[in-house]
Amino acid sequence: MGTGEGADYIPALSEVDPCRYGIAVETLDGCSCSVGDAGKCFSIQSISKVFSLAMVIRRMGDRIWEAVGREPSGNPFNSLVQLEYERSVPRNPFINAGALVVTDRLVSLYDQPKNAIQDFVRELCGNNDIHYDRTIARSEREHAERNLALCHLMKSFGNIENDVEAVIDVYCHQCALSMNCHDLSRAFLFLADRGLNPYTREQVLTTSQAKRLGALMLTCGFYDESGDFAFRAGLPGKSGVGGGVAAYIPGRLAITV
Ligand code: GLU
Repeated sequence: MGTGEGADYIPALSEVDPCRYGIAVETLDGCSCSVGDAGKCFSIQSISKVFSLAMVIRRMGDRIWEAVGREPSGNPFNSLVQLEYERSVPRNPFINAGALVVTDRLVSLYDQPKNAIQDFVRELCGNNDIHYDRTIARSEREHAERNLALCHLMKSFGNIENDVEAVIDVYCHQCALSMNCHDLSRAFLFLADRGLNPYTREQVLTTSQAKRLGALMLTCGFYDESGDFAFRAGLPGKSGVGGGVAAYIPGRLAITV
């Protein structure tokens, strides 16, 4: 602790106390334990990309892979460079470009995509008190030049179906979901249980889809640090610039820091 910096390119995030620290573990056999600030909500940011991707895989199946790749990018999460020479098919669904394509498909699939994302996450963690932090969503929207540029470039290649502003609005909201470590660990538990929501017993993803989502998290969930995280922690997971990391051990547990 004590190293690293808050993400000040989203001004509202730079106001978060960087000393907050919490861990929550939820196991498949029903144990939970936590330390520190595990009950304090934070902006889940890119951890939301796991949920949006799960929603799209559920509705579109393998067709999403015509629009997004499955390889680590080796580049920063918001880089534009690969996109032009790879004809706007983003390397993977977790870099911003890929996540924007996924969100675009949610905008195509749902009349009320923001409500749909919120409902999906509430159902996964069994907590109806999950909301968007509108201040953070607005702050990101006001400084979204890079994501707008990614979206416009992909639209010029035909890989964004909807109005760019609408896609960015949903994206800024999904990133601004406010959750605590308990909620996030619970929401990740379906991945540890082969796609089955252990609370509702609903099969959220097929076993095969859940395994593939895990493979992507292990290889791409930490952007250009994914290899190092896999080497050191060896867990499928996803980071977010709100400071959170959520991961899981298949068949056992989910953990959020
Ligand atoms: N909302 C952030 C962005 O688009 C997400 C990045 C992250 O959490 O890694 O820049």
